[in-house]
Amino acid sequence: MSENKKILQDTHGRDHAYLRISLIERCNLRCTYCMPEEGVKLSPKSHLMTYEEIYAIAKTFVKHGVTKIRLTGGEPLIRKDIPVILEKLATLPVELSITSNAVIIDKFIDVLKANGVKKINVSLDSLDATKFKHITRRHEFQKVYDNILLLVKEGFTVKVNAVLMKGFNDNEIIDFINFTKDLPISVRFIEFMPFDGNKWDMSKMVSYAEVMQYVDKAFDKNDIVRLKDAANDTSKNYKIKDYKGAFAIISSVTNPFCDSCNRLRLTANGQLKNCLFSSTESDLLTTLRAGKPIEPIIKKAVQAKFKVRGGMDTLEKLQEPKLHTNNRSMITIGG
Ligand code: SAM
Ligand code: SF4
Repeated sequence: MSENKKILQDTHGRDHAYLRISLIERCNLRCTYCMPEEGVKLSPKSHLMTYEEIYAIAKTFVKHGVTKIRLTGGEPLIRKDIPVILEKLATLPVELSITSNAVIIDKFIDVLKANGVKKINVSLDSLDATKFKHITRRHEFQKVYDNILLLVKEGFTVKVNAVLMKGFNDNEIIDFINFTKDLPISVRFIEFMPFDGNKWDMSKMVSYAEVMQYVDKAFDKNDIVRLKDAANDTSKNYKIKDYKGAFAIISSVTNPFCDSCNRLRLTANGQLKNCLFSSTESDLLTTLRAGKPIEPIIKKAVQAKFKVRGGMDTLEKLQEPKLHTNNRSMITIGG
């Protein structure tokens, strides 16, 4: 653990035990809040980490204290060698999980189980097929919906992520909560966040406080149960009494959870991001390919981590396009 303190503890005393690895910059959906309409400039294939490189970098992080690894994308399941990546990472002593849009996840049930993946986060922003098509620019609602039911049936712990946007899906907050009545899932409402090319503006965002206004109106106050949040949890968790599932709000905009942040992010082209909102990155892949140790770069990147949201510590700063467009598009970060 002293090694962990040396390289994965930042200057604000936060230990980083959670690594999110983006496996791919491409996706089989085109969510408007995630991906610019014109697409993103993709890295040449030779600049993307191979599965051996993913494993080598992950192993270094685990050696220094990482205990949780989440695979993300783009869409991680469209990467051809995903079974091998899962197999390799499953040999490390970590909790391995995945975030997916679930369009093709039914084909991976066995491989996910075989490699010890138990927790799966699925994005679904609307329970209405037409609206789903509008936001994702693809007709895949039924597959995603059926696959959520399948994942539950197969015994996975499922969280459903819904990015809320005013006038688009805020009228579905209660439908989503009612979706948890008979299904043991947690629906997490995410405040719409600014990234390069996603046409963010504060007026489109539905805040934590606004979500709770809908909830307070729809349910008896004695039936709204505040759950205990897990350590390092990014969400405020609730449930409706006697419902099988739960719901939560991820309020990175109005109520950031940076104090307990334990996350680092590795992009598909091998860049370490010390924060979702950071405008700087540290190139681990070039150093790894040169046969040099990556620890000094990791340490420097962790030490440089800002206390709050990549330095955008006020709402005013977050609203300044020049600050948040210095970052990547979300599709190439991975959430
Ligand atoms: N394709 C997978 C999926 O959709 O779950 C994994 C990658 S996706 C980038 C990871 C998460 O980021 C999703 O839950 C998505 O809703 C969230 N996300 C993308 N853009 C966002 C934004 N602008 N604000 C908040 N969350 C966002
Ligand atoms: Fe693809 Fe996920 Fe981004 Fe939607 S949120 S475009 S599914 S990466």
